[in-house]
Amino acid sequence: MTEIEGIDPRATPVGTICLDCEAVKGWWLHLRRCAQCAHIGCCDSSPAKHASAHFAETGHPVVQSFEPDETWFWNYRDRKRFFGPKLAEPRSRPLHQPSPGPADRVPDNWRDLTDPH
Ligand SMILES: [Zn+2]
Ligand SMILES: [Zn+2]
Repeated sequence: MTEIEGIDPRATPVGTICLDCEAVKGWWLHLRRCAQCAHIGCCDSSPAKHASAHFAETGHPVVQSFEPDETWFWNYRDRKRFFGPKLAEPRSRPLHQPSPGPADRVPDNWRDLTDPH
C-alpha cells in the first residue's frame, strides 16, 4: 500500500465522541477523525470546530468523516475531498450515538446555531 502523507491506518480512536467538546461541556453536529493520530473532533458546522482546530494545532492535514456510511477524506491543506485506505476500527460513531450530540447537551435551537456549508 502506498503511504499517503497525513494518514496512518493503524492509529486507533480512543473514543467515539469529541473529547474537546466533552472537556468544555459543549456539543457537536458531525464528527471527523484525524487520519494521522485518530483524534476525534467536531466538524466545521459545529459550534467549536474542533477538527479544524486540531489541524491548526498539530498540522495533521487529513480527516475522515466519522459519520456512519461516510468514507470520504478531506485534506485541509489543499481543501480537497478524496477516498483513501481503510483505517483501524472504529471507522464511525456507533449508530445509537446521536448526531447532533451528546443528547443531553444539544440545545433545542441547534439548527439555528449550526452553519451549513
Ligand atoms: Zn468539538
Ligand atoms: Zn491528529
